[in-house]
Amino acid sequence: MSLDHTAEARRQIEICNACRYCEGYCAVFPAMTREKAFSDGDLTHLANLCHNCRGCYYACQYTEPHEFALNLPAALAEVRVESWERLIRPQSFARLFQRHGVAMTGLLVAMLAAFFWLLAALKPTSGEGFYAYLAHGTMVTIFVPAFVLPLALIAAALRRYWVEVDGGRVTWAHLRRALQDAAQLRNLSGGQGQGCNFEEGDRYSDRRRMAHHLMMYGFLLCFASTSSGTIMHYAFGWEAPYPLLSVPKLLGVPGGLMMVVGTVYLVWLKLKADPALGAPRVWGGEMAFVLLLGAVAATGLLLYAATGTGLQAPLLAIHLATVMTLFLLMPFSKMVHGFFRLAALVVEAKKSQKAPQGEMA
Ligand code: SF4
Ligand code: SF4
Repeated sequence: MSLDHTAEARRQIEICNACRYCEGYCAVFPAMTREKAFSDGDLTHLANLCHNCRGCYYACQYTEPHEFALNLPAALAEVRVESWERLIRPQSFARLFQRHGVAMTGLLVAMLAAFFWLLAALKPTSGEGFYAYLAHGTMVTIFVPAFVLPLALIAAALRRYWVEVDGGRVTWAHLRRALQDAAQLRNLSGGQGQGCNFEEGDRYSDRRRMAHHLMMYGFLLCFASTSSGTIMHYAFGWEAPYPLLSVPKLLGVPGGLMMVVGTVYLVWLKLKADPALGAPRVWGGEMAFVLLLGAVAATGLLLYAATGTGLQAPLLAIHLATVMTLFLLMPFSKMVHGFFRLAALVVEAKKSQKAPQGEMA
């Protein structure tokens, strides 16, 4: 844990805990009021609860040029990114991606597209649609480990996180409350539903929340589409390609469109927002991750539109390359924030129940 960033976040949190003006903005402030002193684990927990909405920065009377020089969104962003880099293994790879995310993503997509393109040259003798280029068994053999191993790395990191923040035992009620908060992105509402200040400075806007909703639910629809295709393949022997009026397509096409719109929206918001209120050193890595999500969705839609044409083979190679890059980079890219955020919400559901808001621990 970087002493500089931790010490700076602790200094700022202690000022906020004395001031408490921003109590209603998000879950971070009620959580900090339970404590008198802040351990490293407390700071990790608060940092992962923060959604970088920036409302507290624009409300604060102690930002520069005041001598306190508060910038709580930036201080928490640094601690948050550091917590992911520290808890994921291998740490060196996580740090490398945060600094060179765009280059690493581009290189991986290009290399994997070449790999899948070469693989397609060894055409299977049977199969329809994209299975005519890559046998189903080959795809399963390649993609299952590429999906499961990164998830195992994330699970191990979440276990370390749980120990660090003293998560302890949780109940279904804590999990349900955390899932409700995550589903509504409640902490991006600004406390009273007015939205956040991410890209509009001191003006409220609900755009970031909407963009996240589009991306999150679009991704879940695409995931449900792939899962339904797998069930249809193995349980009912109904193999791809599927027609438009089938469960995988009825879930996947709207999901893909939502992700493309969400990507454009998030890129625009990120370009407008002030990098100094986040962790500027990971700006490139975060942008690479958003663009990668958009590329997965866009190439999937293009592949569907190009079915039966000469573009199907190259588009299949590019689409599979983007999907595999997304899987392989899950533990090291911004993708991991969804897992840590949910863990923080579960811990918070438990801790806030134990010590109601305002009660000092
Ligand atoms: S961000 Fe500023 S105004 Fe808000 S609680 Fe902290 S010190 Fe007070
Ligand atoms: S940036 Fe937003 S979410 Fe983070 S502490 Fe400030 S008000 Fe809360």
